[in-house]
Amino acid sequence: MPKEKNQEVWTYYKVEKSGIKKLRKECPRCKGSFLAEHKDRRTCGKCSYTEFKTKGSR
Ligand SMILES: [Zn+2]
Repeated sequence: MPKEKNQEVWTYYKVEKSGIKKLRKECPRCKGSFLAEHKDRRTCGKCSYTEFKTKGSR
């Protein structure tokens, strides 16, 4: 059922919106230092690596 997958996506969004910081991502450059969460992007304080959050794959 494709609906199952849909629900997973929604759960992920809910978690992100409520500001739970468990899902913090590690910096791919520094490894071990975490990216700071912003509204539309993540940034690394060490190397200023920035990763933009995109809604679709366009
Ligand atoms: Zn970094």
